[in-house]
Amino acid sequence: MRIFDPHIHMTSRTTDDYRRMAAAGVRAVVEPAFWLGQPRTNPGSFADYFDSLLGWEPYRAGLFGVRHHATIALNPKEANDPRCRPVLDLLPRYLDKDGVVAVGEIGYDSMTPEEDDAFARQLALAVEHDLPALVHTPHRDKARGTRRTLEVVAESGIAPERVLVDHLNELTVGPVQEAGCWMGFSIYPETKMSPPRMVEILRRHGLERMLVNSAADWGHSDPLLTVETARAMLEAGFDADDVDRVLWRNPVEFYRQSGRLDLSDLPEAAPEFEGSSIRRGGG
Ligand SMILES: [Zn+2]
Repeated sequence: MRIFDPHIHMTSRTTDDYRRMAAAGVRAVVEPAFWLGQPRTNPGSFADYFDSLLGWEPYRAGLFGVRHHATIALNPKEANDPRCRPVLDLLPRYLDKDGVVAVGEIGYDSMTPEEDDAFARQLALAVEHDLPALVHTPHRDKARGTRRTLEVVAESGIAPERVLVDHLNELTVGPVQEAGCWMGFSIYPETKMSPPRMVEILRRHGLERMLVNSAADWGHSDPLLTVETARAMLEAGFDADDVDRVLWRNPVEFYRQSGRLDLSDLPEAAPEFEGSSIRRGGG
């Protein structure tokens, strides 16, 4: 089984997570730029974070045989902070870089006018830089947030097949499918989407344009829930090719639209970890 996690925040995860993921079949990940929990107070903090997503983190992933790409954006939550908004001017220089496979995560947190503006401006940047867009839907008032998201996407002129609308559930999947966008589902250990609920959605809505991720970050989350979902699919009667489609070929097809997805020379199996320890500075 080969797994591509199309939305996971490895910056918040440990080296042990990389080892467990690699051993379970996770071969590739995309890490979207997001809110780090502690509010940032100036654009320089974002520049260092973006550099880390394109430098240090792919290196760290590579030690475990995992291919790492990133999406870059000003996240919806911090789009509300006037100290962070100048990040929008930093983005063009990052969106030209090799490891960047989409603009994201963008979209809504509390659906404020500031978020409206940052969302529209960043969709325009996606069009300008010929990149797909990864769109986060709000955890509160999700149905209204998803409707509003689809309106803004339509107004922006970006092709719907270049947009992934994420964190969907049973109530929000329908309109996104109708709009022709890709559908992302974050599987969580408790609350929100679980592997059995995900399997039911795949039964009802089919496998086309469907993406499953763990969205693992600094909160209660589990980077192996992609693998769990694959197992739940097999138990429910989907075959190995169906699993490969949802958990590998679909994310490859979506992010390949960037022209920058590099999956060359991936190891066939998880590498041996002896000797791949990360060297620490200062002792
Ligand atoms: Zn996220």
